[in-house]
Amino acid sequence: MIRFTDTLAKEKVAFVPLKENQVSMYVCGPTVYNTVHIGNARPAVVFDALRNYFEYRGFKVTYVMNFTDIDDKIINRINEEGWDFDLITRTFIREYLRDMRHLGVRDANIHPRTSNYVGETVAFIEKLLSKGVAYVVDGEVFYDVTLYEGYGQLSHRKLEDMMSGARIEVDQRKRNPGDFTLWKPAKPGEPSWESPWGKGRPGWHIECSVMATSILGETFDIHAGGNDLIFPHHENERAQSESCTGKIFARYWLHNGMLQMNGAKMAKSTGNIISVREALKKYGRDAVRMFLFSTQFRSPIDYSVDRFEEWKKAANRVNESLARIEELFDGVPPYLKRESQWVKDKRDRFVEYLDDDFNTSKVLSMIFDMVKEINTTKDKERLTEAYWIIKGEFGDVLGLFTEVPSKKQQQSGSAFDDVMETLISLRAQLRSKKMYEQADFIRDSLSQKGIQLLDGPEGTKWQI
Ligand SMILES: [Zn+2]
Repeated sequence: MIRFTDTLAKEKVAFVPLKENQVSMYVCGPTVYNTVHIGNARPAVVFDALRNYFEYRGFKVTYVMNFTDIDDKIINRINEEGWDFDLITRTFIREYLRDMRHLGVRDANIHPRTSNYVGETVAFIEKLLSKGVAYVVDGEVFYDVTLYEGYGQLSHRKLEDMMSGARIEVDQRKRNPGDFTLWKPAKPGEPSWESPWGKGRPGWHIECSVMATSILGETFDIHAGGNDLIFPHHENERAQSESCTGKIFARYWLHNGMLQMNGAKMAKSTGNIISVREALKKYGRDAVRMFLFSTQFRSPIDYSVDRFEEWKKAANRVNESLARIEELFDGVPPYLKRESQWVKDKRDRFVEYLDDDFNTSKVLSMIFDMVKEINTTKDKERLTEAYWIIKGEFGDVLGLFTEVPSKKQQQSGSAFDDVMETLISLRAQLRSKKMYEQADFIRDSLSQKGIQLLDGPEGTKWQI
């Protein structure tokens, strides 16, 4: 039985899907105005792996992730840099999908774009108005948060506290300080759509309600996203959806913790970011994914260069073991035709860990223990079993170990490292003998070939 810590219930609950053996999932996707960093990639990687796991456990999954292509951040970039509206959103949707594919994340079954759902959004808002939970002021439509009984339940906040907290800078047109915009009138020159309230565009929260219910139905199984979205985004999505349909919106709410650097959230505004592209280039897909799986997804995860280096080494250890097995068999070992108790035990533990709040970190520890075990054995049967269960099953669900480096690649890598080490040491010896001309010759000729030597307090490092 799969169990999750549900944000609304605030405890671990058993997952029982709406339709037997089927799962419908909606994950809040990116606002497409820029390329993404590793913090943005966490929900994409984790919830895509959860989708793999559902499939592994026999469920048919419908996985939806939206692209927010109407937003202030996009409009700001259009105004400041002269982008064409259609081109900026198309560019960053393409770049996002490309980064995610390199990271081993599959495309969603459906990637809806806000701009394709404006008609549905207008209809949704009209329904809210007809129910009396929304109101229009000067072409802007607001949602009245006091008219939904459950407001604050998801984020576990009291309405009174939210009201008093929001007293500063209150828009005088709002009935209550916590009311939020459903439809925003357009300023001159902004991308806009026709509506009964004049030209404008959907507010941020309404888009996800409209896309989720249009595609997955009024009630669906799992709504997921980063825990920075719980309030106000998901609280508002839930309020307006449930007051529109009169039904439960999402049956389970899953939220991932933030990626932090020295305790602060990774964000463009704080500058402490590493892009997905840069991380993949420096550390490789397995290391990046292992880093993201190294902490259970609800907890915050701390980013540091050292931690990435550690996971790169850890990923190499597993891949080297798998490569050694391939070497031993002169290729891929034969498929398992029957399974021993050893294999069954490992699989039972894999399922036990992932059933329990999708604890990927325990699975990684088990994989490392298995690698230690097989590194000391010559038993070909055990090695075959280990190969297929680690690479074939666990790796398949977690999107790891998809490419075992060939023997030749490994050798050329390490031989090159040795040559570089020799050159660096030779240069140091020359410098200590004050033979600067010869020492600089080494540095300059390497630099011409695109290899930089970096002198630091811990000696000289090199980079290509
Ligand atoms: Zn959303």
